[in-house]
Amino acid sequence: MATEWSRVCAFGGLCLFGLGVCLCKMVLLGRRSLCYWVGMAFSLEERLQLGIHGLLPPCFITQDVQLLRVLKNYEMKKDDLDRYVFLMGLQERSEKLFYRVIMSDIERFMPIIYTPTVGLACQQYGLIFRRPRGLFITIHDRGHIATLLQNWPAKNVKAVCVTDGERILGLGDLGCNGMGIPVGKLALYTACGGVPPQQCLPVMLDVGTDNEALLQDPLYIGLRHKRVRGQAYDDLLDEFMKAVSDRYGMDCLIQFEDFANLNAFRLLSKYRNMYCTFNDDIQGTAAVAVAGLLAALRITGSKMCDHTIVFQGAGEAAMGIAELITMAMEKEGLSKEDSLKKIWMVDSKGLIVKGRDHLTHEKERFAHEHPQMRNLEDVVRELKPTALIGVAAVAGAFTEKIIRDMASFNQHPIIFALSNPTSKAECTAEQCYTFTEGRGIFASGSPFDPVTLPDGRTMHPGQGNNAYIFPGVGLGVTACAIRHITEDVFLTAAEALAHLVTEKDLSEGRLYPPLSSIREVSLELAVKIIEYAYEHGIATGLPEPSDKAAYVRSLVFTTDYDDFNVDLYRWPEDSMTLQSCKL
Ligand code: NAD
Repeated sequence: MATEWSRVCAFGGLCLFGLGVCLCKMVLLGRRSLCYWVGMAFSLEERLQLGIHGLLPPCFITQDVQLLRVLKNYEMKKDDLDRYVFLMGLQERSEKLFYRVIMSDIERFMPIIYTPTVGLACQQYGLIFRRPRGLFITIHDRGHIATLLQNWPAKNVKAVCVTDGERILGLGDLGCNGMGIPVGKLALYTACGGVPPQQCLPVMLDVGTDNEALLQDPLYIGLRHKRVRGQAYDDLLDEFMKAVSDRYGMDCLIQFEDFANLNAFRLLSKYRNMYCTFNDDIQGTAAVAVAGLLAALRITGSKMCDHTIVFQGAGEAAMGIAELITMAMEKEGLSKEDSLKKIWMVDSKGLIVKGRDHLTHEKERFAHEHPQMRNLEDVVRELKPTALIGVAAVAGAFTEKIIRDMASFNQHPIIFALSNPTSKAECTAEQCYTFTEGRGIFASGSPFDPVTLPDGRTMHPGQGNNAYIFPGVGLGVTACAIRHITEDVFLTAAEALAHLVTEKDLSEGRLYPPLSSIREVSLELAVKIIEYAYEHGIATGLPEPSDKAAYVRSLVFTTDYDDFNVDLYRWPEDSMTLQSCKL
């Protein structure tokens, strides 16, 4: 006890200063909110210093016991939406405990805080709304976004995830309810990539919604008018990008998420060379799919440029993946022109060929001289691809005939059914393995259970989850202050991810490392990106760290509770709980 009290005295001076700075806000927040912060893990001296002695039960418990309590409560929840609400509540009360829980079993919790449950949560956002999280900027805030950003309590934001809610997952326009997506993505920045939560800012750009059901819903939380488009929309985006970069620096990462197709491509090409930005639906997807292909090449024993690839779908995912494949082929020595010829696309109107109607600028690049064809079965039979990639959300598009045909002209046909959710997958893992007699190389967007083949082998289908990529990219880019994220960064990430797949993984059908190792994967990706960035002169962080792995590890968030005096001193600026306590 004597030592405890001498420690109290020793840091008392520092605490007084911290207390002085915080006093007004503490009065405003009330002492009870402090009790939530680390709860019964506060020591006696901390309880005395904070003036909350007696406001907590007398027992002192560790974070381990708190984890146990959370897990036991979690098990009592009746469905996934309840589990989501429970975990979000925990995130508001005690961020460190929340991340401790998530990181204790990332495979178990990722489908709750992210896809697929986050989709359900966005659909019910008005109903399950308890406290706001993230920054809401509307079309009516034009002209003063910079001032609005000042309301965000954290000054050292390094990663922003922004959506306008127009194309939330496969669920369409969910307007302001789409805020669940940036919140979920950034939670994975921390849980998988170790980016400290106070450096992450989720943003909703509310320009209205064209979803009539939401406009009529009394619980809807967004603006009640149709989407504003055209010049006013563009002005909002321009002002937002500038305001974020002015406040947080030119190296503040801005990740675009779930924008509708046209805006996604347009905004990416407009901002990619002006700001530190990327679109995960296009570029993150590309990197994870190409990583899967690179791993598959180790099974086929071929090079990327040996392949002919047919895409079912020609949207954001397809274009991103195709672009990165051509870069991988170019790296192998093929010309850009010849690499484009290796890729074919089928959209809702059929095979994309030269002279066809409805060709956007992006599709034109993959339009080749060929007669028009409407049917995917005919396309596969005619072009005899070595790889088939499904990203059109057309369930069952890879028919038995298609899969058997693929197996007839390839020893190891590559079949990626990437459409989400599971119900939209082009084929199941079992169908792929069965119709190819176990020779198919399969990956999916949503998880599939392992499949046991007639020869006794058990195959573990790879899940091309974007979470393998964006947290590591986020950590790497922010760690060395890259200002413009080139496509090479994504190819570097894809190569690093493929490299982490072991021979044992491959023999079991896995094209990705186990999801449980995602934190190590993200750190490794970050190191490779940092090495690439310094080597190619795109890192602006100086001095260049000599031991990059150690540098990355020094940055990552830990779930251990900080000493009270340190936290108190920093608390109002850095803690995200401030916002939720206030409101
Ligand atoms: P998108 O809306 O941008 O593109 C969809 C494309 O499918 C369009 O080109 C459309 O013309 C085409 N299409 C529609 N109906 C078709 C039909 N009957 N035949 C052929 N093509 C048709 O969507 P997106 O962002 O590209 O996503 C597509 C799918 O990929 C979604 O299911 C999404 O969940 C999935 N996806 C998976 C991952 C992953 O596995 N990591 C990542 C991103 C997207």
